[in-house]
Amino acid sequence: MFEKILIASRGEVALRIHRACHEMGIQTVAVHSTADAKAMHVRLADEAVCIGPPAAADSYLNIPAIISAADITNTDAIHPGYGFLSENAGFVDIVAEHGITFIGPSADHIRLMGDKIAAKAAVDSLGIPVVPGSDGAVTSESQARKVANDVGYPVLIKASAGGGGRGMKLAKSDGDLAEAMSMARAEAGSSFGDDTVYIEKYLEHPRHIEVQVMADSQGNVIHLGERDCSLQRRNQKILEEARSPALNADQGSEIGEIVSKAIAKLGYLGAGTVEFLYEDGEFYFIEMNTRLQVEHPITEMITGVDIVREQIRIADGTPMGYTQNDVKFHGHAIECRINAEHPVTFAPSPGKITDYHQPGGLGVRVESALYSGYEVPPHYDSLISKLVVHGGTRNECLMRLRRALEEYVIGGIDTTLDLHRRLVEDPEFVDGTYDIHWLESFASRA
Ligand code: ADP
Repeated sequence: MFEKILIASRGEVALRIHRACHEMGIQTVAVHSTADAKAMHVRLADEAVCIGPPAAADSYLNIPAIISAADITNTDAIHPGYGFLSENAGFVDIVAEHGITFIGPSADHIRLMGDKIAAKAAVDSLGIPVVPGSDGAVTSESQARKVANDVGYPVLIKASAGGGGRGMKLAKSDGDLAEAMSMARAEAGSSFGDDTVYIEKYLEHPRHIEVQVMADSQGNVIHLGERDCSLQRRNQKILEEARSPALNADQGSEIGEIVSKAIAKLGYLGAGTVEFLYEDGEFYFIEMNTRLQVEHPITEMITGVDIVREQIRIADGTPMGYTQNDVKFHGHAIECRINAEHPVTFAPSPGKITDYHQPGGLGVRVESALYSGYEVPPHYDSLISKLVVHGGTRNECLMRLRRALEEYVIGGIDTTLDLHRRLVEDPEFVDGTYDIHWLESFASRA
């Protein structure tokens, strides 16, 4: 087993990985920007190396600095967390060239899933259902028109290199098509340096449902059930549930098994998430994330599987501690993403935490790197805490979540705690009948 792991990330996920390492008797190396010198991940790690100035491009994305930090600390393996370099295939190649193990899938699988057209074709051939649309890239307006007429309006023009919802434009009718296509291409070109686009039928009221899978180098593949991440604002997830209130256990297991089989055929290694839109009883693949997901704790709460620990074991070549038969689902879990943002306007709110008290008690887990006196820097993602609650049933989970939200104090800055407090009282949320557009209208009613 590895003796020392460098954690190429910051914030709550760096702590999450540190904890898994220490429980396994593995030493940790933190890397940090100058803005994060007093961050909790730096304080807890066995060693810490400053890798650059505040801007992420010069620190957490600075590959030479991270590799040097790994070299001087004699690191065996690097865990990339999520975001930053976690889905950068070039980084994975460089890590391997330095004789260090990357804790994640192969560079080839990261590359494949990063190219949306290739990813869609690959999963389609492996038996995963996809959104109807163009067969690969669309290069001319006449070709676009033909596809749109075949699948029926509305359609989405999407960037093959897309991410974060950019390079995606809606055409409601034939009259919108030319403009949507040129706007999508222009945005894709400027954001990703690649203006390849493709077309998909636009689903009007889907839910976002994703399947967590893990595969080891002995050929054992398991799924850990689904998560429902339909509560989103601007394509950013706000609150996630496991399992999905829209599916019964059989439906969840059915899609889980389809995904497991496909992943096995692909020869994938490590943890991954296959994301779907779900509408009128049908699943439609949208993308595969080849990394640890922000919302992984809700899956851990209902299965008892420590996903980060399994990632480390798999990267080390050790068999996973579970087969599919060992995976049992217990109760319901919900995660609230708490951001340093105003709860109504969503304006960023970095600054000093003057008061901090986190909730506890049975079934309550807080994933956060905050402490009283800590200064939330303005340079990074606004996620500052994840409140994760487990209950025997969805109803018990909701009662516990309301109680935990009452207890949580984060003073000194604006946070989205109040948004969650309103959300958990809303009858439509409690009903569980929401789709991916519902939260935007809920948030604007404040
Ligand atoms: P990105 O990688 O840019 O986040 P995704 O393909 O994952 O792009 O899609 C992001 C979001 O856009 C989805 O969660 C969903 O809300 C919406 N979306 C994507 N494809 C469709 C579609 N065919 N119909 C309706 N909404 C879609």
